[in-house]
Amino acid sequence: VAEIIFSGRSNVGKSSVINALCSQKNLARISKTPGRTRSINVYSVSLRKWIIDLPGYGFARVSLQEKELWNKMMEECIIKRNSNKTVYIIVDAFVGPTELDFDMAKWLKEYNISFKIIANKCDKVPQNIPEDEIRSKAAECFGTDKSNVFTVSAKKRNGFSKLKTDILKFFNS
Ligand code: GDP
Repeated sequence: VAEIIFSGRSNVGKSSVINALCSQKNLARISKTPGRTRSINVYSVSLRKWIIDLPGYGFARVSLQEKELWNKMMEECIIKRNSNKTVYIIVDAFVGPTELDFDMAKWLKEYNISFKIIANKCDKVPQNIPEDEIRSKAAECFGTDKSNVFTVSAKKRNGFSKLKTDILKFFNS
């Protein structure tokens, strides 16, 4: 099974990014666990190709109990399942990456899970800052290559062709 996993802080625009990505390709939602913001959505691209939408991680880190639940979910969803996977961490291009995003990246690195960065809300970034600069900075912050950073605006539907190509490349590899 090949899986693309989307994760990010609450309100970073994760749903909007997934919608923008999937709008043309009629993806079938195959499961939805109950619990509104904490739910994991799974979409099937085809039989053995899945897109997984994790809950936003701002809320899930409030209490110790919540934190434990979160860790358990991550273990069950990401570590234990034997699949070929890439995690896309969505960050807010305007606000910049936060400690929570770095924690997530650190956690993934510990488990040897490959991750890439999507900087969303690029429409909010002043026009005089080139997207190339956003990519370089994010790459540096996360200790990854610039080619692993994608700049998009879900609102304006910009930047999705590169991201789509990357996802399809992964699914077809
Ligand atoms: P989620 O909680 O991460 O799934 O975030 P949502 O997709 O629900 O979006 C959170 C808020 O950010 C909403 O008000 C969206 O309209 C807004 N938003 C999402 N993407 C963009 C974007 O690319 N640009 C701007 N300006 N706003 C966005």
